Amino acid sequence: MRVDLHIHTTASDGCWTPEEVVAGVQAEGIGMFAVTDHDTVGNVLTTEALAQEAGLAFLRGVEISTTADGRLFHILGYGIDPTDARLLAALKKNQDKLESTDDHDIRQLIALGYDIEYDDYLAYDYDRRRGGFKSLRFLIDRGICADVGDFFETIRAPLNHHWPTFIHPREAVRLIQAAGGAAVLAHPGASLEPVGGVRAETLAPFLAYGIEGVECHSQYHDGATTQRCVDWCREHDLLITGGSDYHGGFVHRALGKPEIALEDLHLGRLTPQVSSVQTPSAV
Ligand SMILES: [Zn+2]
Ligand SMILES: [Zn+2]
Repeated sequence: MRVDLHIHTTASDGCWTPEEVVAGVQAEGIGMFAVTDHDTVGNVLTTEALAQEAGLAFLRGVEISTTADGRLFHILGYGIDPTDARLLAALKKNQDKLESTDDHDIRQLIALGYDIEYDDYLAYDYDRRRGGFKSLRFLIDRGICADVGDFFETIRAPLNHHWPTFIHPREAVRLIQAAGGAAVLAHPGASLEPVGGVRAETLAPFLAYGIEGVECHSQYHDGATTQRCVDWCREHDLLITGGSDYHGGFVHRALGKPEIALEDLHLGRLTPQVSSVQTPSAV
């Protein structure tokens, strides 16, 4: 059975609604998937209901922004209770921080002389199916920015832009576990690149933070990186997960890539929840 455990929807910065995700997953021949939106579980239960109707195995997920030693790390939470009050409160805090960072960027652009009304920005809303985030869509719609590449390379590059300080990975792990889930370090090949790549020394702190697994299979990883992740997980008896980090058309990554089979993964205590959902015989 083909598996993709890292998919974004319109609840965060993806272009696809739950209906479109389920249709896309079926079209791709994927039998099991997870929705892992950034700092929100807004579409998890809706997608779960649709997945069950379609006879697809589904894992509840979230991708939490965390900060350790001033760097951003994404921690995936699988099998979480999406109604857990403490988890929801922490996710809301992270969202608020992202929003205020966006607001700060817009105020800097105004100070630099860009033709922007701050009130116009505050009142602005956009169709989530276009993907991305508010400041990007606003600047595109006001003709200030061409596309996402232009946003990062031209508009935001000269700004004094800082990622906010999110919760610590240790805290994310605690919240995920308290909500009944398993915490997994997302795409370490990308996140650990600035600190020397995927090595035992760079992975070790996350073991200390309490992670239960690593997203070994990822579009960010070459074969050698995937193998290092898998070997490290086996050595420490950790879960092995994988997914595409698909965002719809917003970010150019393909759904279901890399191609992952359930046998490539080690899902440990997440497996019973998965197998309790009827699996279609076609996949
Ligand atoms: Zn990520
Ligand atoms: Zn992601």
